[in-house]
Amino acid sequence: MLKRTVEYREIIKRLNQTYNIKCKAKESGEFIKLFAESPEDVRKLTSYLDEQQKEYFVISDKAEKPVKIVIKGLPINTDPEEIKNELNEKGFRVDKVNQLKKFKTREPLPIFQVHLFKTSNIQEIYKLETLFYIMIRVEKYIIKQNHQCYNCQLWNHGSKGCRLNPKCVICAGTHPTKECPSKGKENAEIKCANCGGPHTANYRGCPRYPKTQQFRTTQTGKSFAEAVKEKNNPPASNGNAVRTGETEIKEVTVNPPLPPKQREGRDDKQAQPRGMPTPQRGELQDVLELATELRKIFSAINDVSGTLKAMKSKENVWEKLMILAEALRSPSIND
Ligand SMILES: [Zn+2]
Ligand SMILES: [Zn+2]
Ligand SMILES: [Zn+2]
Repeated sequence: MLKRTVEYREIIKRLNQTYNIKCKAKESGEFIKLFAESPEDVRKLTSYLDEQQKEYFVISDKAEKPVKIVIKGLPINTDPEEIKNELNEKGFRVDKVNQLKKFKTREPLPIFQVHLFKTSNIQEIYKLETLFYIMIRVEKYIIKQNHQCYNCQLWNHGSKGCRLNPKCVICAGTHPTKECPSKGKENAEIKCANCGGPHTANYRGCPRYPKTQQFRTTQTGKSFAEAVKEKNNPPASNGNAVRTGETEIKEVTVNPPLPPKQREGRDDKQAQPRGMPTPQRGELQDVLELATELRKIFSAINDVSGTLKAMKSKENVWEKLMILAEALRSPSIND
């Protein structure tokens, strides 16, 4: 993906005619998508762009990547190496086998992830019904986690192949995040590199945050409150972290979102975290109305951080409410 420049058509012409690098271009908004014919041309292309100091990033080629699947139904203590051998014997080409673990506790799960090299028979893997004479289920492995580039803060490409100018996750400045001058400072300016809003670029409420939901939202037959409760306190040991159907184990968390520090000027979109279960229609209305009321309360508080600190120091809900009431009584600047 080449950053759009005025002379990009010239560049492509030169690449094909002068440098004999076979490539085609496709319009893609802010970027130009370049397709090279062979891996060799990809290498030539990137080294040319490096030489010319062009801004670009590389999207990994799906055709070369191994296919990931999961096998369910095997005993939890099955040796991944045995699975690898067994699948190889059945004519699949296995790169590696990993046992999946629970995201937080790292407890092993009875689910095995298999990386398969692309072969003509690869689709047959989904028809596999037994392994070691044990009934199994083979499913596609789907990662729900979106990946944000550490270098430029855009979504769904890695920083390894990114030659765009760096952007800071904190202040949107053109420096790597670790060199941010306002790092650790109390009243640092926070600006989103993707939308310009008053939050860090990895904030989940950002309007440019990828639309793919972090959690499955189909929790039919449950009230909003129940669903939230379960989300916050997932049942400990019955393997509920994995629901039936597609497997959605969260992999390594990339850039855990920081909360927005500047409370002024936030808008409705930012105030609503993503990844919440979908409530029923009537409940949604109630929740929205409640949120509006709460926002009225919050906007009337003068010293948000002081109030928050005082509230956090109390365990009792009523004591928390008293502090909130007290904060509302103190004269506000707007009065
Ligand atoms: Zn990038
Ligand atoms: Zn910065
Ligand atoms: Zn943003």
